[in-house]
Amino acid sequence: MHAETWKLAAYLIAALLFVASLAGLAKHETSRRGVWFGIAGMAIALVATAATALGLASGLGITLLLIALVIGAAIGVWRARVVEMTGMPELIALMHSFVGLAAVLVGWNGFLEVEGNATQTELVGSLLGIHHAEVVIGVFIGAVTFTGSIIAYLKLSARIPSAPLRLPGKNVLNLGALVAFVVLTVFFVITPATWLLVVVTVLALALGVHLVASIGGGDMPVVVSMLNSYSGWAAAASGFLLGNDLLIITGALVGSSGAYLSYVMCKAMNRSFISVIAGGFGAPASSGPAEVTGEHREIDAAGVAELLSNASSVVITPGYGMAVAQAQSPVAELTRRLREQGVNVRFGVHPVAGRLPGHMNVLLAEAKVPYDIVLEMDEINDDLADTDVVLVIGANDTVNPSAAEDPGSPIAGMPVLRVWEAGNVVVFKRSMAPGYAGVQNPLFFRENSQMLFGDAKERVQDILAALPARVG
Ligand code: NDP
Repeated sequence: MHAETWKLAAYLIAALLFVASLAGLAKHETSRRGVWFGIAGMAIALVATAATALGLASGLGITLLLIALVIGAAIGVWRARVVEMTGMPELIALMHSFVGLAAVLVGWNGFLEVEGNATQTELVGSLLGIHHAEVVIGVFIGAVTFTGSIIAYLKLSARIPSAPLRLPGKNVLNLGALVAFVVLTVFFVITPATWLLVVVTVLALALGVHLVASIGGGDMPVVVSMLNSYSGWAAAASGFLLGNDLLIITGALVGSSGAYLSYVMCKAMNRSFISVIAGGFGAPASSGPAEVTGEHREIDAAGVAELLSNASSVVITPGYGMAVAQAQSPVAELTRRLREQGVNVRFGVHPVAGRLPGHMNVLLAEAKVPYDIVLEMDEINDDLADTDVVLVIGANDTVNPSAAEDPGSPIAGMPVLRVWEAGNVVVFKRSMAPGYAGVQNPLFFRENSQMLFGDAKERVQDILAALPARVG
């Protein structure tokens, strides 16, 4: 069989495996299978692409390609082995930035190659126009993805503040950049001058920074999945330029599934999809959060053990701090001990608790907490008022009453776990510092709330030590 036919067959199989992978990843039960389909598809795609490239390349080209493959694979293996689960979102953001940068380079290369080729006879008339449109669109999407992802990386890794940047007339700036892009595209297709492409590149780099910088910490989960979508479209644009069908299909799959995930997350967090993708467009002008004042009360581990011994129903709401402290095993042990004593213990998991979707569920499953007592926010919220004790373990934004009660709060309207309705609330944290969204939490000053300061894992272990042994 001809080499090209082999390549097409391999691409087709890889594309089908990617579709099967996405279908598998849609459900807990089939997610492992989904991951394996994805790995198999990517392995086939890589082998087919590398084999084709090696067949076309010269001696130096082959050497460079092999060096790039080895370096890339080594960095990938190293990062995947050392990354903490809490560091996954920023790693993903950084990877999206590479996809964006690659799309910019592919676009520029496509332009320079055609420009530098005196005999442009292969691409004539309208085909040349289409090529230039592909170049400018690919560069634009790639550059927005590149800088947007870098800003997301910096925000997620706390290297810059997570609060939204509020430039005067920010929506006009975003809209102006889009209009300018459309106009420049038209000019570029008619007269493909280098300076036009430079302007589009700079404009898109600036737009990427502004779009993501304008989004507040509470909305970052949506931004991560949105950039995932952009990186897919950037890859698809590169696929058109390189004439690579698999890149087009894969890019479109990533682009559309990322967009759908962003939409689903926006619905779950009561956010406007358009507002988030347009860098906060249409978000109500915040009058600023109401001032949070008051005295907080402290409790020690022995006090919490006593509260728990007298409780008949307990709800645990875990958050990012549980992941930082790696407290899931002692938390699972506490759950087991309380259940043995006849206490009804359940977990309430907020959709964006932690730093990536499903973060808490994975940690609790790892610690062997039974699935059936791990409930989603909507399943547990109405029961919180009848709960004796809520243990807020390293959660903050996801249990903040300001979201429900303070229209001026940056997280206003975001659904939260209404833990303050319970009889007693114990908040595990190390200080009075705010959560990821940078918003102070009035829960800490409520009459039924008490703070248990310190590392969550150590404090849960202290409670286990102080908990009376099983009666009977
Ligand atoms: P938050 O970031 O709001 O709060 C985490 C809390 O954990 C802090 O109050 C911190 O307080 C405490 N903490 C940290 N380390 C420890 C420790 N070792 N022991 C005890 N406590 C600790 O977390 P939530 O899970 O409530 O909310 C998630 C936030 O992250 C939301 O704003 C969400 O939008 C955002 N986000 C979520 C993503 C997702 O996909 N899920 C992705 C990106 C962002 P202290 O420092 O005082 O100890």
